[in-house]
Amino acid sequence: MAPTWQKTSLTLIACAALWLPGTAPAFGAAQDGKPAAVQAVAQVRPPKLVVVMVVDGLPSEQVQRYRDQFGPGGLRRLLQEGASFMDAHQAHGITVTAVGHSAVLTGAYPYRHGIIGNNWIGADGTQVYCTEDARYRYIDEDTEAHDGTSPANLRVDTLGDQLRYATGNRSKVVTVSGKDRGAILLAGKTGTAYMYMDRTGDFASSTYYMDRHPAWVERFRAAKPQDRYYARSWKPLLEEQAYADDAPYPEATTADTNRFPFTYYSESGAPAADYYGRLKTSPAIDELTLDFAEAAVDGEQLGRNPTGATDLLGVSLSGHDYVNHAYGPESRMSHDHLQQIDRRIARFFAFLDRRVGLDNVLVVLTADHGFANTAEFSQARHMD
Ligand SMILES: [Zn+2]
Repeated sequence: MAPTWQKTSLTLIACAALWLPGTAPAFGAAQDGKPAAVQAVAQVRPPKLVVVMVVDGLPSEQVQRYRDQFGPGGLRRLLQEGASFMDAHQAHGITVTAVGHSAVLTGAYPYRHGIIGNNWIGADGTQVYCTEDARYRYIDEDTEAHDGTSPANLRVDTLGDQLRYATGNRSKVVTVSGKDRGAILLAGKTGTAYMYMDRTGDFASSTYYMDRHPAWVERFRAAKPQDRYYARSWKPLLEEQAYADDAPYPEATTADTNRFPFTYYSESGAPAADYYGRLKTSPAIDELTLDFAEAAVDGEQLGRNPTGATDLLGVSLSGHDYVNHAYGPESRMSHDHLQQIDRRIARFFAFLDRRVGLDNVLVVLTADHGFANTAEFSQARHMD
């Protein structure tokens, strides 16, 4: 019998919040000449806001293994009150971030949506980054060659595109992520993407979407929330005993810290690019991403669309993938990271409840891919 830490698959947890009106849908009987299912659909009041959340690199095993440790209002709430699909798998072969994020809201295979990897070799033999587009640049940020700035390589519509098409562009579609591809590929062609700039710690959009940031984004950037972590540490959330079954720490190295606590610092002695880069391998990047998502809800009045149209907010939390790359999904860092983002997600749901009312919100949470165990972990179990 193999241990629970197997090569991982997609986690899909969906929470269909309670927006059904008093009349329960009836299936089977036909009335007024229409099939009952059609009538049932017509009776459903659509959500005011659809929130699509992606936890980058989250194996379903972790959700099940740690579910008893989740707090009350985050992942536990989705598991208890929503529909969850723990044995969901991708049908594409290259299970990387860009392909996974493209699948989430297009429902298409890579041969149709065009995003066949994070990078690929183009027909002319040159290296292509999935969201690169030299015609556009980041707003108020430096842009380097191959930076992700547009969905030009995405060949099909997303759910958000169809929502906007169906409502004459009255639906608002906004996405945010720690990775440009996590935001851009959820936003589709007509949504608006904002992404973390790892050289400055700011969130920015690109000139594909607009010429200038709206005022609420300017205010968010001016407040520099990314600097609040400086000289602070990422420490475990739970008691030591809670991590007893995790993989032991690897041998200490002189190159970098590989165990708790992790201090957010810069070689320069003040917040700088190395510090902003370090935030990505921690809960900080996801807290900042959700801070920005909340600012977007207020700034764009998402879920309170005066035309009554349904809005869509896409949030891709990148930190779990970075943490798993650095320490492995069996590490206590990965374990703790999931607990930390669970608590922040709970606060996000409470925020949505205050602003929009969760009865008006449909939340879908999924992963873009799972994560393979580290070679050392597999070797120790003779799984190499
Ligand atoms: Zn990913």
